[in-house]
Amino acid sequence: MRFDRIAILDWSAAKGPRLGRDSIWLGIAGPTGVEAENIATRAEAEARLHQLVADTLATGQRLLIGADFAFGYPAGFAAKLTGQPFALAVWDWLAARVADAPGNVTNYRSVAAGINALFDGDGPFWGNGEARQIAGLPRLKPALPPGLPLHRATDLAARAPGAFPKTVWQLAGAGAVGAQVMTGLPVLARLRHAFHDKIAVWPFEPTSDTGAQVVLAEVYPSILAAEVKALQAATGEVTDAAQVRLLAAAFSGLQARGGLASLFALQNSGQYLEEGWILGAGAQAGLRAALTPVVSPPRPSAGAAVASAMPQGVDWVPVAEALTRLRAALVPVATTESLPVAKAMGRVLATDVQALRASPPRANSAVDGYGFAQAGTGTGVQRLPLVAGRAAAGQPFSGRVPLGAAIRILTGAILPEGVDCVVLQEDCALDGAAAVVFDGPVKPRANTRQAGEDMAAGAVALPRGHRLRAPDLALLSALGVAQLSAFHRLRVGVLSTGDEIIPDPGHKTLPHQIYDANRPMLLGLAARWGYEAVDLGHVKDNPARIAARLDQAITKTDVILTSGGASAGDEDHVAALLRDRGTLSSWRIAMKPGRPLVLAFWQGVPVLGLPGNPVAAFVCALIFGRPALGVLAGADWEEPQAYMVPAAFAKIKKAGRREYLRARLDGAGRAEVFASEGSGRISGLAWATGLVELPDAAADIREGDLVRYLPYGSFGL
Ligand code: AMP
Ligand code: MG
Repeated sequence: MRFDRIAILDWSAAKGPRLGRDSIWLGIAGPTGVEAENIATRAEAEARLHQLVADTLATGQRLLIGADFAFGYPAGFAAKLTGQPFALAVWDWLAARVADAPGNVTNYRSVAAGINALFDGDGPFWGNGEARQIAGLPRLKPALPPGLPLHRATDLAARAPGAFPKTVWQLAGAGAVGAQVMTGLPVLARLRHAFHDKIAVWPFEPTSDTGAQVVLAEVYPSILAAEVKALQAATGEVTDAAQVRLLAAAFSGLQARGGLASLFALQNSGQYLEEGWILGAGAQAGLRAALTPVVSPPRPSAGAAVASAMPQGVDWVPVAEALTRLRAALVPVATTESLPVAKAMGRVLATDVQALRASPPRANSAVDGYGFAQAGTGTGVQRLPLVAGRAAAGQPFSGRVPLGAAIRILTGAILPEGVDCVVLQEDCALDGAAAVVFDGPVKPRANTRQAGEDMAAGAVALPRGHRLRAPDLALLSALGVAQLSAFHRLRVGVLSTGDEIIPDPGHKTLPHQIYDANRPMLLGLAARWGYEAVDLGHVKDNPARIAARLDQAITKTDVILTSGGASAGDEDHVAALLRDRGTLSSWRIAMKPGRPLVLAFWQGVPVLGLPGNPVAAFVCALIFGRPALGVLAGADWEEPQAYMVPAAFAKIKKAGRREYLRARLDGAGRAEVFASEGSGRISGLAWATGLVELPDAAADIREGDLVRYLPYGSFGL
């Protein structure tokens, strides 16, 4: 699914024709940029939308229309109003009743009053911006009819932290949104019926494989509030104009990065068929990131001035800067699915996961011993009579322990009623079977675990973007979580290029040929990182063949790693091809080993071009490939954990580039480095257990100085 144009509609319920602030705006992002149109009345806007769709169909293109008002009402409303729990039924219901004359003269208030009459109490709708009273439409917020929520789930998911979104029930007053919904949905309903098999309304109808060339979706411009403010400050345009332009640009930028499809696939609760869902809710950061240009123009970098270790006359990008650019250019592309916890090892969470149960669920004993009420004890030798029975894990004691008495209790047993502390059995003596004797005083709650002390029910146990490890599976299981929403395993394609490369060690070689070392290495890394590694084979240095292979590859991968041909040299066909046919950023990185790194998008699929040299390919895969794949897979940005350890070597290093040395720890815990820094020495990669990272600046390292050691394990190996 790829849209040729993306239109963003900023609706208005204004009374009478209106231009400028708080009127109707339509922003359209297409191949030549983003334009904004201002439209004076709803009738004209409706005609414009019909024309836009007709143009799209006539030219065989695809169009996404995002509208900035709610596509549904909170759960429970649709069924009560129409007999069906579906938003689209409400669309038709409203279209049959809300009238809007060409000069923006509408009856939506009396329709709202009529709806109120169907519900118990005075609501749900309120707000009347007119002087005249409207019977059945309260001016102030009424008590909501029982069971009808104030907000939809998606309103809460899309809001900024701490912000409280407006409700669709409010029809008038500052920032009210309800009137736009009532006047907007009939327009969309008519548009949908006019082009019935060519328009799909997301998330109510399937958007792919349906023949629908136009997709209608709800959007929420406030997601980009800060960016809108900045643009307005720079251009002086009205908020609505800046909003539609920026949001259209953001969706379009997201599409260029391959991140748009995943928004349509975002899972949410079953009630979305009734409430609708905001496209991009929960993925605000990705939309914001998509506003930065994919291709960064070459600019002088901080590193260039001091790049004395590097050839002059080239824009050398420092490692940190390259990482920043990479991070800004990428957004999650993996779609999501629901999974049992037991099958989720290594997967990335697509939503925050909440504790369904407290841990521990009830107060219990931390030791084997004797339990009683602390209030019934004092200082000195204590002698408490024992009640019959005992409390053990899985075998709760159902009776009550009287004040001044004790009970035998074992680790993990729920504290019986009347027990709030426990003495360790090793600190007690038994007086026959009748009483337990120990020294007081005993601290309140001694040797007990409180209900929820580890985690309260409802608390966020693990955040979206977290990659699940074995201890996380323990936590989620303890909290009663059986099923979770995770990103699909990222499909990572690996392609080798080069005329000299022989794809498999089984084949015969001529003296000028070498075996493909990078492909098994990169496939191994991808698999180890929990992704689906897709072998794309090897292809000769021939632009047409590389292009054909990439065309095939994008049908079965989410991202492609290539190695070789990434510099600017004569035989560097990958870089040349991506420059001509893809969207390319090519950076020469001030690091050793390494240098060329390419980020491109082949028909929207990200391609990371690594150096051909296996040592450089490996180091670049760890430093750049791992966090980049992580972002695409939906994970948070992953930084390797570094350890400062004494050097077992000495080295003088020039300023201007960061260096990664193949290293391992000796018996004394000091970092020793591989005998040769030659980048052709693949054996050094296998010898090492990690990398020593030397800073961009000059350094004179003596034996015993502390250096940054990054074990392979820090890169998830
Ligand atoms: P390139 O980046 O294509 O100029 O390649 C740099 C060096 O890496 C050359 O010596 C290539 O022969 C070597 N090389 C490229 N690809 C591979 C590979 N897949 N396996 C082993 N060596 C490679
Ligand atoms: Mg080559």
